[in-house]
Amino acid sequence: MEAVYDLLVIGAGPAGGSCAEKAAELGLKVLVLEEDSRVGEPLHCGECISKVAMDKLGDIPEEVIAEHATGVRVIFPGPRSNLCDEPGAVLHKEKFEQWIIKKAKANGAEVLLGQPFESAERKGKFWKVKSKEKVFKAKIIVDASGVKSVLSQKLGLNKRADSVVGIQHLMECNEFDGYLDFYVWPKFAPHGYLWMISKGKGLANVGLVTTESNKAKEYLEKFLIEKGWQNNKILKTFGGLIPASGPVENTVGEGWIIIGDAAGFTSPLFEGGTHLGIQSGLYAAEVVKKAIEQNNASKEVLSEYDSLWKKEFPDYKMLVGGKDAIYSLTDEQLKDVSELMPNQLGFLSSTDKLKVLYRMFFVKPHLSKKKLFKVFNAFKYSRAKNYGW
Ligand SMILES: Cc1cc2nc3c(=O)[nH]c(=O)nc-3n(C[C@H](O)[C@H](O)[C@H](O)COP(=O)(O)OP(=O)(O)OC[C@H]3O[C@@H](n4cnc5c(N)ncnc54)[C@H](O)[C@@H]3O)c2cc1C
Repeated sequence: MEAVYDLLVIGAGPAGGSCAEKAAELGLKVLVLEEDSRVGEPLHCGECISKVAMDKLGDIPEEVIAEHATGVRVIFPGPRSNLCDEPGAVLHKEKFEQWIIKKAKANGAEVLLGQPFESAERKGKFWKVKSKEKVFKAKIIVDASGVKSVLSQKLGLNKRADSVVGIQHLMECNEFDGYLDFYVWPKFAPHGYLWMISKGKGLANVGLVTTESNKAKEYLEKFLIEKGWQNNKILKTFGGLIPASGPVENTVGEGWIIIGDAAGFTSPLFEGGTHLGIQSGLYAAEVVKKAIEQNNASKEVLSEYDSLWKKEFPDYKMLVGGKDAIYSLTDEQLKDVSELMPNQLGFLSSTDKLKVLYRMFFVKPHLSKKKLFKVFNAFKYSRAKNYGW
């Protein structure tokens, strides 16, 4: 007899993997279709993740962690940098994704590799799903196919999200002091930023995101020269697209849910998406469980997923306002902003806040207060608890 899956997940990235793991744990019959022949490969990520995000998946084995981090350092043009102390890690991301899928399998999920999703047709209460070589029957589909958002595209559920290009070198770089470095330097990454994320053992991911995709490599080379790293050995260069226009219009419908990058869930300032992907996957699993229990996968029932993420994730438009305010500043103004902000961005006491206000009004009175508030807000929402990483 033909198997009927409660849930068919497209994509075995962090979003699809955590959704499948949770759904299988809740007792659902789950199938994951992954187009690549190995989970997590090819890699397309800077690989950093906050402890807050990791804790959502239980105890992470040490072998999937390349380096532990004390926090994040934001570096503006000029001599000052600002720290945000909150723990996290740099992953071996492919091992991390493999670990999640292993847990999903241990909970009973089936995972098919090298089986790209090709089409889906809904007949009554069931989906007929075709992959490259096979046909499946499922009650609910979760699209976790990343920036490709294949279900959205095939069924015309949403228009394609705008995206930015991210590229990086895995290279020799021995300057790690516990902080993951993010550079807001418009000269080297217009409308974007750069990073140096240590992977331990004298290696680091050094890369950038910019809207000027055709010049991304050129900017990265200039940045290496600026840092004096141009002769450091490069082991590989890789990257990918990151959705950058916010959540798609429709994240649920009759018998379907979209999660992770496929739903446009990335943080607008530093474009991290792993945390949002994991949380959206967990929410989707809970809602699918309820729908299966009620034998009702209608849009009405699945809409609880919409309510959950809208309540939890920070407002994208507000964050984009902060990002635009940052990008509208010149190098000189960014230097001033850095001087205004306290050394520790994470936990501002009332005295710190008063000091910032004093400097805003009396030391740097030429800077637009409206813009500054937007910039500060953007950094506030870059913290882990707000899904910044
Ligand atoms: C250069 C770069 C650096 C980044 N750095 C960071 C960072 O440091 N921290 C962070 O949090 N985020 C970072 N991101 C973003 C992060 O990689 C994504 O937000 C995250 O991986 C999203 O997870 P996901 O599961 O939604 O999608 P993905 O990780 O993209 O997974 C989607 C999966 O679906 C599969 N798939 C696609 N099409 C099909 C199909 N037709 N059939 C079956 N399977 C399919 C893919 O093979 C893939 O396995 C970075 C991104 C880039 C490009």
